Amino acid sequence: MTQEARAVIGRYAPSPTGPLHFGSLIAALASFCQARGQGGRWLLRIDDLDHPRVVAGAERAIRDTLADFGLVHDGPVLYQSERRVAYAEAVEHLKNTGFAFDCGCTRREARDGPVGLEGPVYPGTCRNGLPPGREARSVRLRVQRERIELLDHFQGRYGQDLAADIGDFVIRRADGITAYQLATVLDDQAQGVTDVIRGADLLSSTPRQIWIHRCLGWAPPTYGHIPVVVDADGEKLGKSTGALALDPAARQAQLIECLAMLGQMPPASLETRSVPGVLRWAVDNWEASRVPRRMDCRRLEMPGAG
Ligand SMILES: [Zn+2]
Repeated sequence: MTQEARAVIGRYAPSPTGPLHFGSLIAALASFCQARGQGGRWLLRIDDLDHPRVVAGAERAIRDTLADFGLVHDGPVLYQSERRVAYAEAVEHLKNTGFAFDCGCTRREARDGPVGLEGPVYPGTCRNGLPPGREARSVRLRVQRERIELLDHFQGRYGQDLAADIGDFVIRRADGITAYQLATVLDDQAQGVTDVIRGADLLSSTPRQIWIHRCLGWAPPTYGHIPVVVDADGEKLGKSTGALALDPAARQAQLIECLAMLGQMPPASLETRSVPGVLRWAVDNWEASRVPRRMDCRRLEMPGAG
């Protein structure tokens, strides 16, 4: 990572599929602090591309919750649903430059490959052109045998050999919707995002996103993956868990809990501050190096711990 001056831009990109929960607040707060703590801007993007999963009213509720908790974004909100032309142009560009190809395989046929990190690795059937009599269903991005590594702000070094671990992956789905991986990269680039802070469940997507940046001739942003909150057995907590519901009447306490979970050691005196006061402390004292690699829900019982 170079130390030269750069205009820091962070973002929070929720899907409008339901209300924010405690885990979402941790991720939103971490990306907010990472950007504002470096004097940067913090943007909001609504990942509303996957229409069947979009819930009416969820976007409004998310924006209201963020505002309640003092997480005020800079600039206009970017909606993925308004970016379809840009996505289609990028898919065409990747096809024209040989990085992407039409795939005629059904979901079942694409499962014929060896097992990789996220299920079967695409067997390469359509890599060199559609087999006779087949029609294009999806579009895939060609990967190569090479380890793609990143130095995550919180998780340290992480890497994958995309050819062995993932395979040529879908960038436009058979239903015509742009795949999450491509849309995210195009939006991060369009918004000039420098620091992608999000949940650790997306860490395994990151080498694919770095690869897309490279295919398009762009330098990738830096990444930081907030650990997933786990229970005593190391299992990811469900959204139904009572401890994870957000309570607008307890905003300061919940923000302080989030800061404690993020390893930021909020002082007891913060409990008397207003929501903007808590956030000001959080931004002024943000230390990315203190974010733990794992989070244990047992810490949830101790608001303001540390
Ligand atoms: Zn195929």
